[in-house]
Amino acid sequence: MDEIAREYPLIECNLTKLGHNAREIVSRCAARGISVTGVIKGFNGDPRVAAVFRDCGVDGLATSRTEQIAACRAAGIPGPYMLVRIPMPGEAADVVSLADSTLASEMPTVRLLDAECARQNKRLGILLMADLGDLREGFWDKGELVEAAAETEALSNVDLLGVGVNLGCYGAVVPTPENLGALAEVARSVEARIGRSLALVSGGATTSLPLVLDGTMPARINHLRVGEGILQGKDLSDLFGLDMSFLHLDVFTIKAEVLEVKRKPSRPVGRIFVDAYGYTPEFPERGVRRRALAGIGKLDFAYCDMLKPREKGISVLGASSDHLILDAEDYPGELKPGDVLEFDARYAAALFATGSRYVRFVCTR
Ligand SMILES: *Cc1c(COP(=O)(O)O)cnc(C)c1O
Repeated sequence: MDEIAREYPLIECNLTKLGHNAREIVSRCAARGISVTGVIKGFNGDPRVAAVFRDCGVDGLATSRTEQIAACRAAGIPGPYMLVRIPMPGEAADVVSLADSTLASEMPTVRLLDAECARQNKRLGILLMADLGDLREGFWDKGELVEAAAETEALSNVDLLGVGVNLGCYGAVVPTPENLGALAEVARSVEARIGRSLALVSGGATTSLPLVLDGTMPARINHLRVGEGILQGKDLSDLFGLDMSFLHLDVFTIKAEVLEVKRKPSRPVGRIFVDAYGYTPEFPERGVRRRALAGIGKLDFAYCDMLKPREKGISVLGASSDHLILDAEDYPGELKPGDVLEFDARYAAALFATGSRYVRFVCTR
């Protein structure tokens, strides 16, 4: 990462809070016979954070990008490492040299990985994915998955670890006892076909945690891949309405410096056309109000609604690529250029900010 001389903007990760969250989630899953692989892509796999994650009882680390595995290995963080994006055929050599296991849904890719394993004299675990409705990766035809499992089992350099599913990320499908029960059924069919039991039946990601917490997870599910739920307990409490009081909901903080404070009308003056992103926003009439600009923008956090001001009386009006535009009318104090404002960073904001070369990534304890 580039060295940034100035202090702001920055994103701060509190490693003590992160460690607490990871241990809480891991122990609640362990109580139901579920092991957890810690997913590190939500903070771009930063090794300082990954090291803490690895120490909290997870059975390994996972990410979607081989570069992040390389950085963590270089920093000496022990694996095993799982690749949670089904591999690009063009990265087969990196997957074999860097990962211990990978998700997969295409036999040509699995054969390629098997050949690459032979070349590198290494082994790679394979978790075959079933698509149970979310319409991202995975076999739609479950008979085809069973045959793929039998073929994988017969390959000499890869090990069939089990079957898995991902729900929620694309199709926004909610994991339920029914769709995860269908995964357990797929596991049983594969086991009947290959004549042995599977090590892993991987029932998804953070969105599957509610079933662990309310005790409705089908018994055969014995593995989850969790990132967000540990980093951002706030999403589980805000979006799923769960009581997440056993987690710290403020692992990440974004801090940005105030550039301008002025009283202005609440609606733009002139003919309104499209903004920098091609959208025509709505501007409710609220009269002349105190507004502030901060030195951080969509380039660093993607979506304004992923930033929540910590200070009372400050709200987000919008953003352009490099400016955050705030309403500060009800902020009780004085506000001036150089003041620093703090924000909760939800998943996408932490994802973008930790990867932005313009934002300092600071770890605290
Ligand atoms: C990102 C990802 C995860 C982890 O998701 P979280 O919401 O961060 O828990 C798990 N599995 C797959 C396939 C993923 O892409």
